[in-house]
Amino acid sequence: MTRASGHKDTNWAKRPRRSTGERERQVSVDYKGERFATVLRADLLVDGCAVGSEATGGAHRLRRAFVSLWLGACAALAAAVGCGGGPVAREQALGEAALGHAAALCAACPARVAGQGSVGAADWIAARLPREGTEVDRFEGAPGPMANVWHCRVGRPVALLVTHFDTKAGIPGFVGANDGASTTGLLLALANEGRLPVAYLFADGEECRVAYSGEDGLHGSWRAARSGRIPRGTPVIVLDMLGDAGFTPALAGNGSPWLNGVLRRAAAEVGVALGDAGEIIDDHVPFVAEGYRAADVIDFEYGPGNAWWHTARDTPDKLSAASLARAAALVRRAVELLEEERE
Ligand SMILES: [Zn+2]
Repeated sequence: MTRASGHKDTNWAKRPRRSTGERERQVSVDYKGERFATVLRADLLVDGCAVGSEATGGAHRLRRAFVSLWLGACAALAAAVGCGGGPVAREQALGEAALGHAAALCAACPARVAGQGSVGAADWIAARLPREGTEVDRFEGAPGPMANVWHCRVGRPVALLVTHFDTKAGIPGFVGANDGASTTGLLLALANEGRLPVAYLFADGEECRVAYSGEDGLHGSWRAARSGRIPRGTPVIVLDMLGDAGFTPALAGNGSPWLNGVLRRAAAEVGVALGDAGEIIDDHVPFVAEGYRAADVIDFEYGPGNAWWHTARDTPDKLSAASLARAAALVRRAVELLEEERE
């Protein structure tokens, strides 16, 4: 995504290339104001997401066993701090699960460039969703093969939740932990929890290669918005970059005013301060253009002066389970309000 006007210098060429031969990797997580660290040992990990690896020409050690390892650590952590079974504990567990999925996606499929290996990441995501109601929609995009992942187990979804999972091309070492993986992890956690009466779309090809145009960027969301899979009256909530430990979510100004109003009400009720991001080019744009009421919830302040956005510094250690838990609470309340409005 980007601002609808202006240009940000990402300065990516000066960033160091991330080592792909490392034997272990440290991932840390914020939890109840404290920071916990986990070291992931490469000898516990196995290969996966081969398409993404081939496409980048790297010899990445890939990590399918990571998910169970991470979730086990999170469960132990939750038990240690005495979580009960109420709504707050439920959101915390969702935040932790989302962070685990996000970190695992970055480890398994570090480069998820649309048309150059993103299909492997789509298959990775689909494999982590309940089989029932999951479909991978493969298509030929301008730079090459792409795939959207759909998941829906309800007949008449109250809303469509959308994230992109692809990564920006041409940034050495970029794994898109916040930009792509964080909300992918959030939607994976929500879909696996299975409580929300919604449809899920994991969209490929959000990132543009050069500049957003009819042929560059938003590939998956254009395809989805024109597909007729979801009735036009269904509200569409796009979630992007919501894993930042410094949680400052905002609404795109070019989303549906009605849906923005619902999201602002939900945010107020769950105690989330929702700012105004101004006009944003993101996956909500094709849905708005096709007549949907669509909104974009995005935290476009990532690092000092947004310095980590579109750089090799966008890594899982910058993410926070607490932020993802708050995003989950916001989404849940918004869906509840939408359900009430529909009845
Ligand atoms: Zn991006």
